[in-house]
Amino acid sequence: MKITVLAGGVGGAKFLRGLREHLRATLPDGQGGTTAEITAIVNTGDDLWLTGLRVCPDLDSIMYTLGGANDEERGWGRHGESERVSTELTEYGVGWPWFTLGDLDLGTHITRSHLLREGRTLSEATAHVAARWNLGITLLPMSDQPVETHVVVAGEGAGDGGAAGGAGAGAERSMHFEEWWVRYRAGLPAVRFEQRGLEESVAAPGVVEAILGGDVVLVAPSNPVVSIGTILTVPGIRSALENTAAPIVGVSPIISGAAVRGMAHACLSAIGVATAADAVGLHYGARASGGLLDAWLVDESDSGLLPGLAEAGLRVVAVPLWMNSVEHAAALAGAALAEAALLRA
Ligand code: GDP
Ligand code: CA
Repeated sequence: MKITVLAGGVGGAKFLRGLREHLRATLPDGQGGTTAEITAIVNTGDDLWLTGLRVCPDLDSIMYTLGGANDEERGWGRHGESERVSTELTEYGVGWPWFTLGDLDLGTHITRSHLLREGRTLSEATAHVAARWNLGITLLPMSDQPVETHVVVAGEGAGDGGAAGGAGAGAERSMHFEEWWVRYRAGLPAVRFEQRGLEESVAAPGVVEAILGGDVVLVAPSNPVVSIGTILTVPGIRSALENTAAPIVGVSPIISGAAVRGMAHACLSAIGVATAADAVGLHYGARASGGLLDAWLVDESDSGLLPGLAEAGLRVVAVPLWMNSVEHAAALAGAALAEAALLRA
């Protein structure tokens, strides 16, 4: 069975780890190898050049989480991390002091940047760094071309340009997504998001094939705007999703009207979507009426939303959506696959 997953960083990573666990527990081959193949199509809109290095936050969140190297407590980066190099960089006045790159993490960025400068594509560099971690899944960047999400904010107090920003004198300013997210904690109201480089981008090798050739496509509980939303804007991806024979099952990143973790509500409000499982489901839309989804998984606490969603033509199931352990995430992934199996039957 070929399972293709659209994913952002932390939510995507937890879901993918659960999916891998579910398959290991339920399939005889035990490794998700011959009997199940997982391909993750990962958002690269948050990527940036920082102190001469290409940083890919979402790819690395997934790689470290599935590689067992992530800092579970902090939720991002490597465990057992130190920050000696970052401290030195701050002394030299380069980089973003509020965007710490740990010493071990820098090893990944140096390797990736080295490979890119040798002329390898991001897909090739990703395959190279991922190989070390024996992830048991295939990691694909959504595109080999740089597509960077910038946030346009209104008026005073906006970014000073930083390493990648573009401060203007007018009423609106823009900054790289990571500056808005990490430095300002998404506290500056976003006017809109811009994907720079999108026109020159295409889906990375294997992405369209994974969607068209998949038996199931899962949309991870990731940020609907700046993770999943960005993946969907890459030329070629939307039409592959429209044309695939595979059922497309999405998992809500919103539970009881709140983003489980982080500031996703600030992204949703910028595009006029309420922070609610039904609003996000309707934003993705039912495939039958030109949208993305064949089915939508919401949390049990949101089961009151089912009738309204069904009326809108969306097939919805209520299951526990909290991924606060690998076992819970595995059960959630199992529920998504069960729904896909029903749709295929
Ligand atoms: P990022 O790139 O690191 O921001 O991560 P993602 O785009 O993958 O997703 C972040 C989102 O995942 C958060 O805003 C939450 O809405 C969602 N999320 C995180 N943990 C959970 C969980 O346990 N259950 C569900 N359903 N969603 C979660
Ligand atoms: Ca991200």
